[in-house]
Amino acid sequence: VWDCLWTDIRLATAAEASDGFGYLEAGAIGLKDGKIAWVGAARDLPGPVSALAREHREGGGRLMTPGLIDAHTHLVFGGDRALDFDLRTQGRSYAEITAQGGGIRSTVRATRSLSVDALCERALPRARSLLSDGVTTLEIKSGYGLDLTTELNMLRAARQIASALDVDIRPTLLALHALPDERAHERARFVEEVANEWIPAVVEENLAVAVDVFCEHIAFTPAECRQVLTAARDAGLAVKVHADQLSDLGGAALAAEFGALSADHVEYTSAAGVAALAQQGTVATLLPGAYLMLAETQRPPIALLRTAGVPMAIATDLNPGTSPLASLTLAATLARAQFGLTASEAFLGITRHAARALGLKDRGTLAVGQRADLCLWEISHPRELSYWLGRPLCATVIRAGRARAANVTSATAAPRH
Ligand SMILES: [Zn+2]
Repeated sequence: VWDCLWTDIRLATAAEASDGFGYLEAGAIGLKDGKIAWVGAARDLPGPVSALAREHREGGGRLMTPGLIDAHTHLVFGGDRALDFDLRTQGRSYAEITAQGGGIRSTVRATRSLSVDALCERALPRARSLLSDGVTTLEIKSGYGLDLTTELNMLRAARQIASALDVDIRPTLLALHALPDERAHERARFVEEVANEWIPAVVEENLAVAVDVFCEHIAFTPAECRQVLTAARDAGLAVKVHADQLSDLGGAALAAEFGALSADHVEYTSAAGVAALAQQGTVATLLPGAYLMLAETQRPPIALLRTAGVPMAIATDLNPGTSPLASLTLAATLARAQFGLTASEAFLGITRHAARALGLKDRGTLAVGQRADLCLWEISHPRELSYWLGRPLCATVIRAGRARAANVTSATAAPRH
């Protein structure tokens, strides 16, 4: 006997299906012990509803999908960069903005000044915004400390968010983000310290499951990234790369070389980079929020990625400097409007392929044995998930089989269970 059976729902399973969505109009799903015990067409249910489950819920014809997965965020930070954006839209240069106290330095200063509790408290409203939009699994990077103490504090804050909110957090050490001012004259020593001291410290406290690097002219060279990725791999951590965002330094190929979970941004990735991703099975994570806010014009090579069969994830990249985007469905809409993804590509980008970008095999699709992370939406077809611009659509979230109380709306009147 299942714990709960949902009927009167439309399903989009995100499993392999000819329509790209796994869409089913009159669906049903049975949950047991936090997992999916049965999923399919209601007419195929193996018995009468009353005999199958202890609790029966009706979805009112709403759409049910896997819980959404945001595979790339920087949502722990101090301060904000709203003034930077104001100046940027008035045509001021990054140098002028920095001179006025803005830029990443201001975020680093503000982040270093906060305790773990304060970092968590600042991040919670941003996390809640993502959760109210259907996110059940969330990646959070460090990277605004640029010193070991603050990087560890950021990761501790991420862990604190996981215990404060109903969400799974996948913490990532963004080991190489920017060279801090005070280390400007000892670049090599800094990179060495990250590889030989930061990574072991993070492993010792079990604070991260992955290590990320920013491979770019304004950040770190492929050789420096390689040094840190090697240390990460040797320490048993997964790796990922901020790759080819502003220029083609071969970041995607570097990610593939290390068997990375994902190469992220990939605006300037070459055909050779795409081929390397395809061969390795590395996910390309698209970040349309940064593209929008930086008024970029170089789009990721979507046609090449599609033809090569590279899985494409879509993430918010939620961060203060370039992507203050706190809705994953809005990110999906932007990926369609700006990059030309299809509706089913966008849907898989925030479900199945996003799970893969985090190395998670137990979620991202509706299939027997998967975690019961589910969303019920106030729409009837999954193409609407990447159509509306900032319209709240999420009615109910279920994580590991339990309804998330804060998200239960009067529209569904779903009881806790
Ligand atoms: Zn990022």
